[in-house]
Amino acid sequence: MELFDRPEAMQAFSLGERAAGRTIALVPTMGNLHAGHQALLREARSRCDTLIASIFVNPTQFGPGEDFERYPRTFQADLDVCAGERVDAIFAPSVETMYGEDRGVVVEVGEWSQRLCGASRPGHFTGVATVVLKLFNICQPHRAVFGWKDAQQFLILRRMARALNVPVEPIGVETIREPDGLALSSRNHYLSAEERAEAPALFQALCQAKQRVESGEKDAREVVQQARQVIVQNTHAAIDYVEAVDMDTLQPLRTIQPGRTLLAAAVRYPSARLIDNIRM
Ligand code: AMP
Repeated sequence: MELFDRPEAMQAFSLGERAAGRTIALVPTMGNLHAGHQALLREARSRCDTLIASIFVNPTQFGPGEDFERYPRTFQADLDVCAGERVDAIFAPSVETMYGEDRGVVVEVGEWSQRLCGASRPGHFTGVATVVLKLFNICQPHRAVFGWKDAQQFLILRRMARALNVPVEPIGVETIREPDGLALSSRNHYLSAEERAEAPALFQALCQAKQRVESGEKDAREVVQQARQVIVQNTHAAIDYVEAVDMDTLQPLRTIQPGRTLLAAAVRYPSARLIDNIRM
C-alpha cells in the first residue's frame, strides 16, 4: 500500500495508473474508519483496478464551534482497515499541502447547499464540494464511492460532477447500521450512554414513516409530522429538521413521490448532531 501526503505525488501516481490502462476508484473519508467506510471500500474495490482512499479531516467543511479540533483521528488504525480492504494507495495530506494560501477559490453549489443540513451549517457544502473536486483532480478517479448516509452530500456531489462535466462516476452505497438501527458514524462516540440508548429512535421514526407511505399515506406533511412525533416521544434530542424532499431537486414535497422521495432528518444532542434518511 502506497502512502502519499503531497498532492503532486498522488497525482503523478494516478496519472501513471491511468497511462498503464488501469481504472481508479476513490473513496474520500475523514478517517476514523468504521464498517460504513469499509462497505464503501469494498464496493470501490469491486469496481476498479486501483483503489485509492483519502483520509483528510477537511477544515473548510466545519463551521465555527463545530468539532474540527476534537474530530477523532485514528490514523494507524485506519491504515490497518485500508490494508484489510486491499487499498492500493492512501492520500493523507496535511491542511497546508492541501490548501496552501489558496483558500479563496471554491465550488459554490447554489441553493442546494442551503437546504436540509445546509440551513444550520452555512458554508459546509461549499467546503465539501471544493475538497471533493480537489480530490477528484488530484486522484484522477474514474469512479468515486460515497455513502447514502450523507444523502444530501451525495446528491450535491453527483450534481456537481454533472454540472461541471467532471469525468467521474459517483456511486452511492447504502447506510451501514448498528444492530439496533443507528447509522454508523464517527460522531456516535460523542454520545452519552443515555443518548446512545435512545438514538435508534431516529431511524425507527423514518422506518415507521416509510411503512405509513407503503400503506397508502401520500401527504408529505402527515408523514413528516408522524416522524417528528416518534422522535419527540422517544428521545431528548432537539429536532433540527425532518423533511420530505424530491431527490432530483431537493425541494420540499407536498405529496410523496414514489421512487423520488428522500425523507431526511437531523437531531441535536448537546454532544453531537446526528443525521439519517430513508428513500421511498
Ligand atoms: P466521513 O469519513 O464521515 O466523511 O465519511 C466518508 C464517507 O463514508 C462518506 O461518503 C459517507 O457518506 C460514508 N459513510 C459514513 N458513514 C457511513 C455509514 N454508516 N454507512 C455508509 N456510508 C457511510
